[in-house]
Amino acid sequence: MSIPVYKDQYINGEWVPSQNPGKYADVEDPNTGKVVAQVPDGAVADMEAAVKAAKAAFVPWMNTPLAERKAYLVKVMENWQKKKPKVVEWLKKELGSPNGLSQLHVYLLDMHLGIALQQVEKIAFETRTPQGALVVKEPVGVVGCITPWNYPVNQIACKIFPAMLVGCTVVLKPSEVTPINAYLVAECIHEAGLPKGVFNMVFGHGQTVGHTLSAHPDVDMISFTGSTRAGKEITRTAADTLKVVKNELGGKSAALMLEDADMKKLVPEFMTQLLENSGQKCNALTRMLVPKSKYEEVCGIAKAVADGVLVGKADDPKAQVGPVANRVQYEKIQGLIKKGIEEGARVISGGLGKPDGLEDGFFVKPTVFADVHNKMTIAQEEIFGPVLSIIPYETEQEGIDIANDTIYGLNNAVAAADPEKALAVARQLRSGTVMVNGTFGTGDAPFGGYKQSGNAREWGLTGIEDFLLVKHMQGQPTQRPPKKPKSKL
Ligand code: NAD
Repeated sequence: MSIPVYKDQYINGEWVPSQNPGKYADVEDPNTGKVVAQVPDGAVADMEAAVKAAKAAFVPWMNTPLAERKAYLVKVMENWQKKKPKVVEWLKKELGSPNGLSQLHVYLLDMHLGIALQQVEKIAFETRTPQGALVVKEPVGVVGCITPWNYPVNQIACKIFPAMLVGCTVVLKPSEVTPINAYLVAECIHEAGLPKGVFNMVFGHGQTVGHTLSAHPDVDMISFTGSTRAGKEITRTAADTLKVVKNELGGKSAALMLEDADMKKLVPEFMTQLLENSGQKCNALTRMLVPKSKYEEVCGIAKAVADGVLVGKADDPKAQVGPVANRVQYEKIQGLIKKGIEEGARVISGGLGKPDGLEDGFFVKPTVFADVHNKMTIAQEEIFGPVLSIIPYETEQEGIDIANDTIYGLNNAVAAADPEKALAVARQLRSGTVMVNGTFGTGDAPFGGYKQSGNAREWGLTGIEDFLLVKHMQGQPTQRPPKKPKSKL
């Protein structure tokens, strides 16, 4: 059966053939390991053309009234509603996410764009200092957005819409692993009739077109989400032009269970947070820190949860957890499970290999390790799979220290009977988010990391302000001269 072959890039308001003709990147279905589509393996020349278009469009777009820019993006949102069933079908194939999760992926665009459309009104674009200088917030300019595959729609939405709302123009380089949802987002933008060059998209690999985007002197900012490894590489590449670089990177989040926490309720809830998207979440609660007195109880609950999870293909209506995204990811996870066993951790659920009956695709058994020490590889490296490490601690302070003993600082969780106590402990955790007694969350609070999890903040008002620069103007006619202090002489 023939598969769809996408030949075009989206540059300057048009679908144009890639300047790397005949070179394609395969899109693989992780449910089966089969190639289901091809997209351009873009050329450096494609990226050059996209940046040129974004640069030319910047000043007119910046000067377009906010209400007009908002109206264009409202049209994009309307187009998205019609496109959703197609996006869901493609997410099941290119990412392997089961139906319910694929529905969540498409909803996340509604959520983030909806919040951005409201919150942008709250930005004080012009203010005066007490001494009368005019302070303005202006769009940073041409923004290169480089996105990963794990929550692909969400990550595209968190970058391109806030950037365009405030008047930046955009070049998107989506993940080569899950490019079709990006193609469908671009179709919605094209159909909304945005001015030429405001939004551009180039398919291709990180080392080629991604590198060109990061190095380009006409790009004013890189907004990156992906691995800490690539974030460092991009930051180094961008250093020559000293552009703004905002990184959303990896994590190794801990759920710190205090002695009196409701283990029966919260252990399953935190594990559900980890297992969603087959554990391929930057903020996944991959370490569970448990007081020694509760250790066996928690291990028992965690084992029962993992044993009961239904792993299956994305078109299986009963599947709770789908495959991981590709062979590389599968092998990396297997390698880390093996390492955990070699280093002396005890597998109490799951383990090496694929679940029975799912030998074709890239399926991983939900795995729980007990007797983990925080210095072990599985407690330090981002696994990006459905693997939990349960780590015992003696005192509350030791629990806090273990949670913070990582190069990452994206997310953590605290569970305690007293919410005030949980909040006091949450304040001591070095991460950009902390889940307190549950995994609920809102899309209007800033999301981002400490330490090697990055420096960006996405979502809500802060997520919009990341795309602004601050300028002040003074002197006539903007400024009143400051009052001179009266001389006592
Ligand atoms: P990745 O770093 O391999 O790739 C991400 C993107 O960067 C892709 O588009 C890729 O082509 C591009 N890229 C890679 N190397 C590049 C280079 N040298 N120059 C320019 N572009 C380059 O990450 P991935 O495997 O797609 O995603 C998984 C990672 O993303 C995990 O580490 C995860 O924690 C992280 N992540 C972080 C957040 C967050 O908000 N902090 C959210 C989701 C995912």
